[in-house]
This record gives sequence, C-alpha cells and structure tokens, in this order.
Amino acid sequence: MSDNGPPAMSKIEQLRINGQLPSPKGVALAIMEVSRRDDATLDEVARVVQSDPALSSRLLRLSNAATASGARPVASIREAVRRLGMASVRQLALSFSLVDQYLEGPCTAFDYAGFWSHSLFMAVACHELGRLIRCASPDELFACGLLAQIGRLALATVYPADYANVLATESRGAALRALERERLGADHNDFTAAILADCGMPKALAEPVYHHESPDAAGFADGSRPQQLAHLFFHARRMADLGCAPVDERHGGVSELLRLGGRIGLDAPALGEVFDSVVEQWRDWAELLKVPAGPLPLFSAIADAPVPRPEESLPATRNRQRILLVEDDPMSRMMTEGLLDHLLGCTVYSAENGKEGLALALEIMPQIVITDWLMPVMDGLDFCRALRGTDWGQSMYVIMLTGEETEEKIIEAFEAGVDDYVTKPLNIRALNARMRAALHYVKLLEAWETDRAQLKQFAAELAVSNRRLEHAAMTDLLTELPNRRAGMEALTRFWSSSQRTGQPVAALMIDVDFFKSINDRYGHAIGDRVLQAVARAIQKAARRDDSVSRLGGEEFLLLCHDADPRAALLVAERLRRMIKAMTINVAGMEITTSVSIGVANRENSMPHEDDLLRAADKALYGAKKSGRDRVCLFANGKTLGG
Ligand code: GH3
Ligand code: MG
Ligand code: MG
Ligand code: MG
Repeated sequence: MSDNGPPAMSKIEQLRINGQLPSPKGVALAIMEVSRRDDATLDEVARVVQSDPALSSRLLRLSNAATASGARPVASIREAVRRLGMASVRQLALSFSLVDQYLEGPCTAFDYAGFWSHSLFMAVACHELGRLIRCASPDELFACGLLAQIGRLALATVYPADYANVLATESRGAALRALERERLGADHNDFTAAILADCGMPKALAEPVYHHESPDAAGFADGSRPQQLAHLFFHARRMADLGCAPVDERHGGVSELLRLGGRIGLDAPALGEVFDSVVEQWRDWAELLKVPAGPLPLFSAIADAPVPRPEESLPATRNRQRILLVEDDPMSRMMTEGLLDHLLGCTVYSAENGKEGLALALEIMPQIVITDWLMPVMDGLDFCRALRGTDWGQSMYVIMLTGEETEEKIIEAFEAGVDDYVTKPLNIRALNARMRAALHYVKLLEAWETDRAQLKQFAAELAVSNRRLEHAAMTDLLTELPNRRAGMEALTRFWSSSQRTGQPVAALMIDVDFFKSINDRYGHAIGDRVLQAVARAIQKAARRDDSVSRLGGEEFLLLCHDADPRAALLVAERLRRMIKAMTINVAGMEITTSVSIGVANRENSMPHEDDLLRAADKALYGAKKSGRDRVCLFANGKTLGG
C-alpha cells in the first residue's frame, strides 16, 4: 500500500467502481452512511441497528464480551452503541453484513465457510490480544481481524475460475501472493487494502493489516504503533491458523505461537489461557454467524500432543515425500517405483547403483532412501556407509532391500547405518508397514527442525531484548547519560585499573547551584531542560575514555583516568567556566546557571573506592560553603581552593 500504489490498483479501482468487490449491503450500508455524518446521534445509529435483529444481537454480545464479569450486562442497543463507539459499530455492522452475504459463492476451490471460520477466529484473537496490549480499541481490532483477508474472498468472487486454478497449486504465503499477482494482476493484500479503504477503515489500522503477513518486512519503526499492530495481527493470524488446522498439522504451529507469546510477555500457561478463551468465544461467534467451528482441545493438550503418526490409510497426499530408490534390476525398480508412487503418493527418484545414488541424493536431498544390496559399481552397504559419511546424509531414513540374508549380514547392514530392511521379493503390505515407520520418522524430524529453528529465533530475539533491557537499566531517561548504577560500576573499574597500574584517578562531583530556585521560578519542565543542557556540557568537556554519569537530581560524576590533582583541577575549572558562560534557550527564555565542583584523587591512604567518592563530596561541600560557582580539591584530609 505504498503511496503511489501498485500498478494493479487501477484494475482494482475499476472493479470497485463497477461494484464487483465484496461490499456491505442493507442495514450495514445505512449505518455506515448515518454514522459518517458529523451530526449523527447515538439514538439515530441505535434505531438503524435495531431494524436488523441479527445485527442487534451480535452487537449486544460483543459489548457484553468486553464487560468485566460482575458488571451489569448491557441490555439496550443504545447502550451497546454507546459502549462500543460509533466507529466500532460501523466496522462491525459491515463485517457481519459481509459474512452473511458471502457464506457461499462461485469459486469451487474456495472454502467460503472455512474462510469465515478462520476470519472469525482471527477477529476474536485480535480482540483478546488488543485487551492485553492496548494499542487500539479491541472492538476496532475485532473488525480488522475479520476483514484482514477479505482480499482472498474478493479474488474468489471476482475471478472464480482463475482463482480456483491458483488455489489448486496449494501455494502459501509469499509464493501465493506472487502467483496471484502473476495470474490476476494483484495479490489478496492489495484487494484487502482497497476494500478496507472503501469501508472507511482508518489508515492507521489498514496499513498494519496490509502488512500483517510479513510484519518485519514492512519497514515500520521499531516499537512504533504500526509495528505493534502488524505484529498483533500476525500473532492473531497464527492463532487462527492453529485453531483451524487439521489435527495432524496442529503441532507445527505451537512453537511459533509460544515465541510470539514470549515477545509480548506471555509465558506458555498465560498464552494457553488467552488461546483457550479465544476458542471459547470463537465457538459462540461461529454459532451466531452459522459458520463451522471444529472441536479443539485445550492449548496445553495441543502443545503436549505427540507428533501424530501417519494415517493408517496411506497415501499421505499432503506435501509429498521425496524418496530415492537405488536398484540395479530394471523390473524390480519399475515395480517398486510404482508401489511408492501410486500407493504411497511419494515422489520417487531412481538410480542404478550406489555411485549414481550418492550423486542424486546430494541433488534432491530425499527424506527416505530405499536401496538394493547387491549392485554393480557400488553396492548398498558401501553406498550407505558413504551416505552416513556426509553431513547431509545423516538424517535420511535408509531402508535396505535384502534377499535371503543371514542374521550376521543384517547386523552388518545396520552397522553400515541402515535404519530398516525389507526382504525381496517385495510384499506390498510389508513395504507399506516399513514406509509408515519411515514417514513417522520424517515427520518427527521435520517437527524437531521447525522447533529448533523457532528456538534459535527465540534466542536471538531474547538476546536483542536483553540488550535493550540492559541499556535501559543503565541509562538515565532524562539526560540519556549512564545512571548512578552505571556510574558506580565505572568507579569500580577506574579504581581497580588505577590500583593495578599505579596511575592516578580523579573523581569530579558536579552539582548545579541553586537548582531548586530554577524549578521554582520556571517550573519543573524547564528545570529538566536545564539539566539536559548541563549534562551535554559535561559530556562535551569529558575526554573519550572518561566516564560521565548522572548520580541523581542535579548531581553528576566525572571520572578521569590518569589525571593528577593539577590536571583534574584544570578539567574542573574549564567545565565550570563553560557552564557559567552557557545560555540555555528554553521556551523563548535565556537561562544561565552555574555549578560547584568537588575534586579528589585516589590516595594511598584510601582503602576503598567509596573513600574517593566521599573525598570528592567533601570538596563539593567546601565549594558550596565558600559561595558556589567554584572548584575545590580535597587532598590529604584537607579542603583546598574555593
Ligand atoms: P545548592 O546550590 O545547594 O545545590 O542548591 P540546590 O537548590 O541546587 O540544591 P537542592 O538539593 O536543595 O535542590 C535540588 C533540587 O533539584 C530539588 C529537586 O526538586 C530538584 N530536582 C531533582 N531531580 C530533578 C529532576 O529530574 N528534574 C527537575 N526539574 N528537578 C529536579
Ligand atoms: Mg541387485
Ligand atoms: Mg544543587
Ligand atoms: Mg544536590
């Protein structure tokens, strides 16, 4: 949704003008019109809503869903409209009107009811996440979730036959969008954006919706509201994907959801609670809107369920497994190929001996390898040993075809790295049973690999957020200088390095004079600006390997390596003059100020780093007492200067 828009926009625009895009009808349209008028009153909107009993009951349900338990439930439409707000009522009315109108349609490959079931799940998930994160009104987020993929419905509606062909490829994600653009001129997100604009959805919401499928590619600023929203939609989308996934694919979504939960501070039990509550509300909504909602176990049960074994009745048609068959006998090869392909629905690649097999394995990376034992050039045992000798051949599942081998020979095969064996001539049932074990292994391996990838990403995100937290814990918010804690850590470092090298170290304690009266005279906000200016000045006066920190209030600490009392006094005096000469321009005023500085050096009589700080403090006290705007040194138990 860039400002100049994709070239496809004109096409979408045309469809829009011709009224071919999905759009609200009837009462929803009336509500949109009434609520857009500046002078529309609650009563007017409520009256229009009331003319549609189905809409009325849905709005009542939604406004009660958000009401804390124990509070008085909302019973009147007027009250519901008041609670939800006009903007939400408009979005919701039109969403519901779309569900009602488009529960079926002309595209044979598009599952209309399933689409709405998924969209409703996402809507409820947005609503719940919105209550946790509070970056927009949960009711508006509900509508966003419901409409987030309306572009897919639009494509199915406008191009039923062509879109059926696109869907037949079973592409997903970026591949699906690319195919849509190639064959239909625009992708479903472009259509979603056009429809959302039509519905008057504010850009602040529509833009994150547009980018929700790949929020990190949108270029939103880190921590910004659009980024938060896009992530929220992505999170809700993944919840809906899990909620609507077939039983044997549920496991795959769990680890990603746990990671997404972690990003917003939800641990596994907390995420489970959110998910389970979404499922419960989703069921209610599905019943109300007459769309399907299959049974779902609790999140904890989904997360803990073992990876399901392949169905008793193979073939497993979804994502065909790649199998490498290595067999020198043409007849036997053809027969086995046929069995694997037709019976089990696998994609089979064949080689005639171990050497060819090895080259082909590297090229196609099969999940399962079936190899004959006796072959020319390189036999099955050597082939298996060679495969296991590579990095990439470790995790392939190898089945050996054997003749009348002795137990001794079979053991030799297992030692060469074979996982299982089947005796020749091949028996269909035996091969079937062996393949089921192999496919189960492949599935477990895939699940483990996704989990591992998720875990890696989780660890990387954790590292980033830990670095951020650490920075925040060590930084003063107002001046962005290191805070007291960081200052004390620097003191320890400076102290021990001075002890080690015998070089001097100096501490300058800096305190703004009569700062209270600056606050009293100009107010606290302007006082803050003065503190920022003083902080900048100290930073500027410091050398690169000095340490500057704000100890608190209007008090700062400057630590200097390798500065004897003379050098430290020079630094302090230069800084004092610099601040004295500075005019701070705030809110049209020119404010001047001054500082008193206490200087001290590490002395051999000081056993501990705190003694250095205490000495600088004594010097500062001396500077204040003798009139302020000056530098004092505390050395050998005496205050000097002032
Ligand atoms: P002296 O010359 O003796 O140092 O007098 P002073 O007024 O500077 O010292 P005092 O310690 O009495 O007052 C410090 C004031 O600094 C009091 C406090 O309200 C103010 N202050 C502390 N932290 C902040 C801050 O973050 N922002 C602002 N605006 N004021 C602060
Ligand atoms: Mg052979
Ligand atoms: Mg002060
Ligand atoms: Mg002070």
